[in-house]
Amino acid sequence: MSCIFCKIIEGKIPCKKIYESDTILAFHDINPRAPVHALIVPKVHVKDINSLNPEHSRFIVDVFDAIPEIAKKLNVHKSGYRIVINNGKHSGQEVFHLHFHLMGGAKLGV
Ligand code: AMP
Ligand code: ZN
Repeated sequence: MSCIFCKIIEGKIPCKKIYESDTILAFHDINPRAPVHALIVPKVHVKDINSLNPEHSRFIVDVFDAIPEIAKKLNVHKSGYRIVINNGKHSGQEVFHLHFHLMGGAKLGV
């Protein structure tokens, strides 16, 4: 499997880790589009939102549990942040391993 996020999760490609649990990993985006730009990924390979099933409900909850904690670590908890999921080609999704962008650190454009 040549999935770059799976390789990061397996430790085969380095990342700047922010947070880790048994189900999810958060790290800094390599090409930040905001002063703070983190990615939150499930450890299990799921291609996109369309591929989700009820077995994935645990990591979905874990992501939303972790988001405020990650935002605190990155000092954007009070100033605000945006969570984005690109899903499919027209959205600009480049990595087909579901991930949540967390962006902040400055007023974001629409
Ligand atoms: P998306 O366009 O939603 O699929 O987002 C993929 C994101 O992954 C982009 O923001 C890339 O900058 C980021 N990215 C790609 N490779 C790496 C990597 N090795 N480490 C960290 N972020 C990466
Ligand atoms: Zn993957």
